Amino acid sequence: MRFENVNDIAAWRLCLGCGACAWACENKAVNLIDVTDDGIRPSVGESCQGCGRCVEVCPGADTSHGKWAEGVDPELSSSWGPVFEVWEGHAADPEVRFKGSSGGAATALALYCLEKEGLYGAVHAGADKDEPWKNKTQLSKSREELLGKSGSRYSPASPCDGLGIMEAAPSPSVFIGKPCDVAGLRKAQAISAELDSRTALAISIFCAGTPSTKGTIDLLARFRKEPSEIESLRYRGNGWPGNWTAESSAGTSSIPYKTAWSFLQRYRPLRCQLCPDGTGEFADISCGDPWYREITPGEPGLSLILARTDKGRRVLKAAAEAGYLKIKKIDSSLLEKSQANLLAKRRAIWGRLLGLRLLLAPVPTLSGFSLFENWKGLSAYEKLRSVAGTLRRALRREYYRRSRSFPVRAVLRDISIIRKRGAI
Ligand SMILES: Cc1cc2nc3c(=O)[nH]c(=O)nc-3n(C[C@H](O)[C@H](O)[C@H](O)COP(=O)(O)OP(=O)(O)OC[C@H]3O[C@@H](n4cnc5c(N)ncnc54)[C@H](O)[C@@H]3O)c2cc1C
Repeated sequence: MRFENVNDIAAWRLCLGCGACAWACENKAVNLIDVTDDGIRPSVGESCQGCGRCVEVCPGADTSHGKWAEGVDPELSSSWGPVFEVWEGHAADPEVRFKGSSGGAATALALYCLEKEGLYGAVHAGADKDEPWKNKTQLSKSREELLGKSGSRYSPASPCDGLGIMEAAPSPSVFIGKPCDVAGLRKAQAISAELDSRTALAISIFCAGTPSTKGTIDLLARFRKEPSEIESLRYRGNGWPGNWTAESSAGTSSIPYKTAWSFLQRYRPLRCQLCPDGTGEFADISCGDPWYREITPGEPGLSLILARTDKGRRVLKAAAEAGYLKIKKIDSSLLEKSQANLLAKRRAIWGRLLGLRLLLAPVPTLSGFSLFENWKGLSAYEKLRSVAGTLRRALRREYYRRSRSFPVRAVLRDISIIRKRGAI
């Protein structure tokens, strides 16, 4: 299907919410709106000139790999994309390690880049100071600013809406985001030489899908908390994996990360269910949790770290040598043991896409993920389930037609925030 602009992509539920379209639009016609029960979505206004740049950078419509670089591990690539090396480790700084989601590796790497590689800053998402139950793209230029945004946030964030900051910076920066955000960054780099020259390193965190803001609102409601009362909200970190903790003047509510995630994961939108890239395949370095064994209570955090490019491999080693990270190489089979859920999802995707295709619904282009090869590895029952389950859901939720909620202007009463490009 030919998409005229990102309104079409959002209406067919293919938007991933990275925000690259807002950066790409030279007429500032794309606003990003947090659609409470879906995610951050674009709304294209009347100043759209139909240039198609927003579609060109959209990873929701098309996320595709080119050829693997030399040195990529052939055993891993069909399940995990390009991987040079698999490491386990943590930030050497105890505070960075403690506050981080896993072992604080993403923050430690960014800190090394700022302090030792002379990079201008880090563009990434953190809690919005004014509405801490939401996220905002920000530029960090110091240890304190980086630390203030460490920890995973299981709610919509669109770090690519900050690509303008990187592009306008006097020297290159580091970008941190989810796999889809990094895929959006790469597509944006391909159309802007300026941005490309200002992108020194891309770090991805692993991601099984982003729950909508409604997930957070409903979880707060379980503790009789209104979003407007919230003074601080963390989803994990401050220990491994840490607690979901909401603070308001009425007191603090806290539950283990796992309990919060099992509640929130039900709020992930369709496009996240169709995403084969859970581990940041377009990044230089990606970081996740080494869940290959039981964690004992109180155990200090650890990160699973993938070097995905030559540059990533060099920075990882240099950060360790400079004393920012403590790392050791681990057997690559521990990747599958750690992230079995992400692999199971990837295996189901070819069947899910088939289910949607049978209803003539548009599906994303996803080349280079070995989707059919992965699907063939499922049992007959699982194969059937991947197709039939999607068909059933698609019929019930009317995925075979455009969502009536888009363009989002039509449902202004349902949305909670409108962020104009450049307002961050
Ligand atoms: C929606 C979501 C799903 C996840 N699913 C998985 C999973 O399936 N498997 C797994 O192992 N781990 C998952 N994680 C957790 C995350 O990948 C790991 O904790 C990772 O190891 C990062 O830890 P760290 O200690 O290195 O990062 P930290 O040092 O804590 O830094 C985290 C960085 O991520 C950025 N960030 C946080 N939240 C977001 C967001 N929502 N969007 C964009 N950037 C963000 C911050 O700006 C910060 O720079 C998920 C996280 C999220 C937000």
